[in-house]
Amino acid sequence: MVDPATEQPQAASQREAEIADRLHDIEARIRAASERAGRSRAAITVVAVSKGFEASDIMAARKAGQADFGESRSRALVRKSEQVGQGVRWHFVGQLQRNKVKEVVGRVSLVHSVDRLTLAQSLGERALAAGRVQRVLVQVDLGSPRDGSRGGCLLDGAPQLVARVRDLEGVACEGLMTVPPQDADARSCFATLRALRDELRSRFPEVQHLSMGMSNDFEVAIEEGATIVRLGTAVFGPRRSS
Ligand SMILES: *Cc1c(COP(=O)(O)O)cnc(C)c1O
Repeated sequence: MVDPATEQPQAASQREAEIADRLHDIEARIRAASERAGRSRAAITVVAVSKGFEASDIMAARKAGQADFGESRSRALVRKSEQVGQGVRWHFVGQLQRNKVKEVVGRVSLVHSVDRLTLAQSLGERALAAGRVQRVLVQVDLGSPRDGSRGGCLLDGAPQLVARVRDLEGVACEGLMTVPPQDADARSCFATLRALRDELRSRFPEVQHLSMGMSNDFEVAIEEGATIVRLGTAVFGPRRSS
């Protein structure tokens, strides 16, 4: 066994330093990208997607100033949010089944992945019962139907879904989210989502957010108007599992 008085604390503080370094590097890249785009750094939120990483890593990132964290599975969300406790904001970024809604409402600040009306209805019912309003984004799938979805409603259906979600009690639709298809040109996907957001915002002023950009492409997403970037490996390093 490793001596807990020596090796383990050292490993933990090395990990803390690594995550702090990574966040520092991300911050510089975000500043540069927002400057290139003539945008304010303050208009961009980083969500550290901690799927595949443990609560100790989340606490290390929190210590380095990271406040927003995302999970893609409700079970991991429940476990880690209980381990980490107060002082962080949670986001749900994965596909969500209606029977898991009760684990998410009251725990997360923003659900990024509303892709159908029935899910929004469940979220709204649960939130109303708890005396809350659940903030959500509508996830849009920008792939061709043949490519296999990475989640989200089709582009053509998005305006109607947003309009209907808006009409529900207990949910507030504050914007759009996408995960570009594997082989797609990310920049053009981001530009498409932004054009849709602009069009919707002219009718529904609360539709503001663009959750787009991950570790591989967040600078491009910021240039195209992202207000939220979702970063996993850039913050925590390579994932061993998802
Ligand atoms: C895993 C995940 C991310 C983060 O991906 P990285 O490539 O590790 O930055 C972002 N968004 C969603 C929806 C994810 O599932």
